[in-house]
This record gives sequence, C-alpha cells and structure tokens, in this order.
Amino acid sequence: MKGVRLLDTAAVEDLKTFEAGSDPVLSVYLSVRPGDSRGMAARLKDLLNPLRDAGPDDREWSMSLRSEIDAVIAMADRLGAEAGKGIALFRCSARRLDVQLAVSDRVRDRAIVDVRPYVAPIEAMLDYYRHYVVVLLDGNSAEAYRLTTDTFEPIASFVEEDVRKANYGGFGGYEEHRVRGHAEEVRSRLHREVASDAAERVRHGADGLIVAGTHDHIASFLNDAGTTAKIIGSFVVDPHTATPAILRANAIGVAEQHRADEDQAGVERVLDVEASGGLAVVGTRAALNAVNQRAVDTLWLQTDEMMGGSECTDCGWLTVGGRGLCPACGESLTEVPDVFDAMAMSVRQHGGTVRTILAETPLSEHHVAASLRFPLRVSIS
Ligand SMILES: [Zn+2]
Repeated sequence: MKGVRLLDTAAVEDLKTFEAGSDPVLSVYLSVRPGDSRGMAARLKDLLNPLRDAGPDDREWSMSLRSEIDAVIAMADRLGAEAGKGIALFRCSARRLDVQLAVSDRVRDRAIVDVRPYVAPIEAMLDYYRHYVVVLLDGNSAEAYRLTTDTFEPIASFVEEDVRKANYGGFGGYEEHRVRGHAEEVRSRLHREVASDAAERVRHGADGLIVAGTHDHIASFLNDAGTTAKIIGSFVVDPHTATPAILRANAIGVAEQHRADEDQAGVERVLDVEASGGLAVVGTRAALNAVNQRAVDTLWLQTDEMMGGSECTDCGWLTVGGRGLCPACGESLTEVPDVFDAMAMSVRQHGGTVRTILAETPLSEHHVAASLRFPLRVSIS
C-alpha cells in the first residue's frame, strides 16, 4: 500500500485490513500550516525523536523503527507543499506500507508506534466528514463536481457524440423520427455513464449524488439512472448561466436537507424501538451500560455538552464521574474528559457505528441513544 490519498472510507478500510506482523508501524498525525516547512521539520523531530526506543528490546525492530523515523523527518519539506489542513502518515517499509492521507480537518499532532496503523483519529473524522457528487446536466454533456464541507471542485466531464444534423428533404417524418430516437439514445447513454461513475464514487465513500439541470433533463436522468447511483436530491438551474457559486449553494441546501431527514428518521426509529421494548436504549446511563457490555450497534449522539467520567485502565469500563476501582474487573479507574467521546471511541473499537446528530431532533433532550446487537444483562454499574 503506497501513495498519497484523500481520506475516504476505502482508504481507512485498506489501513484497517493491513496485515499486522512483528514489524513496527509508525503512524503520524500532523496539522499542516501553509509555508511552514521549516517549522514542520522541528515539529516532526519533537514528535518522533522520543519514539526511537519505543517497543520491544529487539535489534531488528529498533533498526527499522529508527529508519522509519528518519525517513519521515526527511519528508518534512515535501509535506508542507502538499498541505491540506492535516496529514496522516503510515509507514512500515518491511511490509511495504507507505501511505499519506490528506485530511480536510485540523488534526492534533501525535505519533504512535504499533504493529498496525493507528486509525482511530481518522475514523472519528469520517463520522463528520461528508462528501457528495453534484452533476450538472446539459444535454449531451455533463459536468461532475465534488462537494465537501469546504470545497466545491470539478472532478469529471462527460460528453457524448453530437446528434447528426439530418437532411429532412425527401424522407421527412421518418428521418426526423430516426434522428430524435438517436438523440434520446445518445442522451440516455450519457446518463447511464454519469450514474455509474457516481455509483463508483459512492462505493469509495461519497454520500450520494445530487442532480442539477433543467426540469426535463433531471426527469430523463432519473429515468435513465434508475437505482444505479444513490441519488439524494436534485435542483433546477439553467446550465448556461449557473455559476459554481450558484451550484454550490443549491447543492449544500439539498445535502443539508438530506442529512437532516436521515438524522430525523434514524432518531425516530431508535426511539420507537426503545419505546416498544425492542433492542435499543435511550439516555446516558443506559447507553453507558450498553457500551460497557459491547452491545451497541449504532450510537446516536446529540449533545454540545461534555461530561466528565472515568475509564478502567484495564478493561475499558466507562462510568460517569466515578473514582476508585472498576466494578467489572477491580483495576483502577482513570479520568476521561468527556464520557460521550469515550463512548463513541469504544463503540467504534468494537465494530459499531457512531452517528452525530446535527439537526434538531427529539434526541436533544436525551443526548444519547443506541440500537443494540443483543439484549443487555442486568446492569452492574
Ligand atoms: Zn475494568
């Protein structure tokens, strides 16, 4: 696995399925400030030099770890040039791992040595990170854009051959019918091509396709695309006068509405299931209990508050407030700044999903709810 990539679900999956061996994997997270290549080298040294002796007392391990560290420090001036807002590096030369991810958010600087890539911070980012494909239809051509929280940029152009200009003399009606049939066929081919390109991007983590154009173009696109692409909405514009700013503003409107609808529906579902005595819990204490039993399928969070808590240093047991010993295993508890963050991290670590709700929903009065994989045992807390 090598190269510079954008952060998307496919990139995170590839890192998570990296086959761990007994060689050191160096994971580095850095925020990148424009024009800061000199500062970058110094920051990398501060971050990495203390790790030179990390890990087992083994000559081969130490040698390869040190060479990874030197290689990353030597990259400092090149990293600045490829500035996103943050960067994540994963290196293990012995197992051919050399990946750089451009991250569109600021990250906290940190470096971790382990036998596998440390992906928790980028996984957390993916929960918030959304991107959509926006397609502007214009007859026999179309332009695809990528919409993220902070960018709107062209990513692909599609053109199908022009309709042949026909000579109507002589065969009149028949010729005209044939040309129209051909024109529709060309357009339909274009639409299917656009839809399958969007479907591929959705497979790599895009959250859906937004379609723009005249009313008629949109209608025939929806017809041709069928269920190929995950179409989340559309808006009508004149393709000849629409500027990128107009497209972006309209697309953001569609995306926000879609996300709000999705959040609303998801919250309603989990609250309904809980109310009918099904596999779901609502409220902080009940959710903590579910998290501690590793029973959470999806954790729904809606809160601006932070709630202090504690975590067991051994088994990861989480509790609100709390001091002393872990009720599960008897080891000591350590404070965590925010129990909601800690719950989210624990759920992700054990294969569950975390959804942070931004829209106004009934969850705001409960802060947290969870759908469960299996019924809970009686709480110990
Ligand atoms: Zn414990």
